[in-house]
Amino acid sequence: MPRSTVSAWTCNYDACPICTAPERDGMSMLRCAILTLLDQGRWMASDDIPLPDILSAGGGYLNRLRGTAGEGIPVPATEHWAWLEAELRLVVARAAGLDAVSTLDPRIDDVLTTAARLPERRQVDLLDLAAEQFAELITQPRAA
Ligand SMILES: [Zn+2]
Repeated sequence: MPRSTVSAWTCNYDACPICTAPERDGMSMLRCAILTLLDQGRWMASDDIPLPDILSAGGGYLNRLRGTAGEGIPVPATEHWAWLEAELRLVVARAAGLDAVSTLDPRIDDVLTTAARLPERRQVDLLDLAAEQFAELITQPRAA
């Protein structure tokens, strides 16, 4: 995982499980970015935007979103955009039931291709579940 230079990140969302967690570190902003993309993804999915589009170019999307929604939108540095996209795909593939632990798992592509064929409502549910699982994973006390 890359290290972010923004250590005390807080977004606009008062109940953000990442930004309100007691343990915050250099990764908080990147994690908040993933959660924000999952959240936005639900709206996009219900707008019939294809899943591959939702899961790609998240960095650029957040950057544009900040332009309209302001400073509380997490925008990782451009060198972290590829990481962000890979991580987002992993989180969604895991929500779809894949037991992957690495963003390099070759099965992620297949799982996401299958997920992209789901009806819109199921895609929204999938992104919902992904956000829930991701927040849970992050806010749990970390094992040493
Ligand atoms: Zn946040």
